[in-house]
Amino acid sequence: FSPGSFVHTFWPGRVVFGAGTLAQVGDEVAALGVRRVLVVDTRSARAAADAVEQQLGDRFAGRIDGVTQHVPTELANAARATARDLNADAIVAIGGGSAIGLAKAVALTSAGGGVVIVAVPTTYAGSEMTPVWGETAGGSKATGVDSRVLPRVVVYDAALSRGLPVKVTAASVANAMAHCVEAVWTPQADPITEAIAVEGVRALAAGLRAVLVEPEDLDARGKLLYGACLGGSALATAGTGLHHKLCHLLGGTYNLPHAETHAAVLPQVARIKAPTVPQSAARLAAALREDPRNTTDAGDGGLGRELFELFRGAGVAVSLRELGLARGQVDEAVVGFGESVGVGDEVVREILVRAWDGVRP
Ligand code: NAD
Repeated sequence: FSPGSFVHTFWPGRVVFGAGTLAQVGDEVAALGVRRVLVVDTRSARAAADAVEQQLGDRFAGRIDGVTQHVPTELANAARATARDLNADAIVAIGGGSAIGLAKAVALTSAGGGVVIVAVPTTYAGSEMTPVWGETAGGSKATGVDSRVLPRVVVYDAALSRGLPVKVTAASVANAMAHCVEAVWTPQADPITEAIAVEGVRALAAGLRAVLVEPEDLDARGKLLYGACLGGSALATAGTGLHHKLCHLLGGTYNLPHAETHAAVLPQVARIKAPTVPQSAARLAAALREDPRNTTDAGDGGLGRELFELFRGAGVAVSLRELGLARGQVDEAVVGFGESVGVGDEVVREILVRAWDGVRP
């Protein structure tokens, strides 16, 4: 192994990790020196939001209960108005990518970037570690990168994700896994990001296997949150590539569910991309396996196959057909897309046809 030459930009931010750390949110907020805090929470995390509200004391300014996926622009505008009316200078976002996404929408447009975010994630989507924002208007989702939306503090408390249903958990893990895996082949890939990604894959695979046996196991939930944190970091520095662009296309045009789409598409993209980065892919594949020595594949480590087996074993849909996509929509989606992402329509067709059928790589 040789690191060669590379460029890596570290994003700033503070991570507080551990079971029970929800109790530290109030102190973390106080240390930022902010005065008027808006709490944004997903309804499933309402009890945690109640606890935070108590901790904030005089700093508590108001609350938005309930969020929607993909940050609809009407919801974002309503949240902006609430933040302005309350004179908020900080948001504590408690929930998955939807709650954190709404907080980001407010921070992005706050006067002088005056609203800062403290994120308390309860899924494995990883948005809390990235400067990426998204907002949906008229059926199309705009995304961008802006340092103002990067949370100042992230508090990871495994106890909060203990009750996340196994099906939602497995799909969310596929999302986090995609952040790690794709990070080794984007144009901005570098050895530091790869080290983070490999460790992320190891934590996610081990955590998922353990959660399938005992869904409320705190140690397993901790492994998954750790993997989500590493996956978000990898996404933040490596950016997105073919896999995320395909998922974005499918989600945006055909309204497929975000996390689940990753599970069907990632193994097939890995089958095509892994041979282009064989050493990195072999490291990822070894990290995925229960026993890393257990391989007969000397090349890319069978990365696509390992992912497929892990997701299928967790009961996640591994075919786009199961997610409700029609076969005709695959042909429709392909036209012109492959050329636009630089791999050609035929390669994209091969990936999507196999993903639609759920063929084992
Ligand atoms: P989500 O926030 O909508 O949560 C998924 C489901 O889990 C919801 O039904 C929610 O109510 C439930 N839930 C959340 N926490 C729970 C808990 N502790 N117990 C029980 N149920 C709980 O979705 P998500 O998958 O976390 O995030 C997806 C969104 O995040 C998408 O809009 C996606 O585009 C965005 N995203 C953004 C980035 C980024 O870097 N900007 C990265 C990943 C995902």
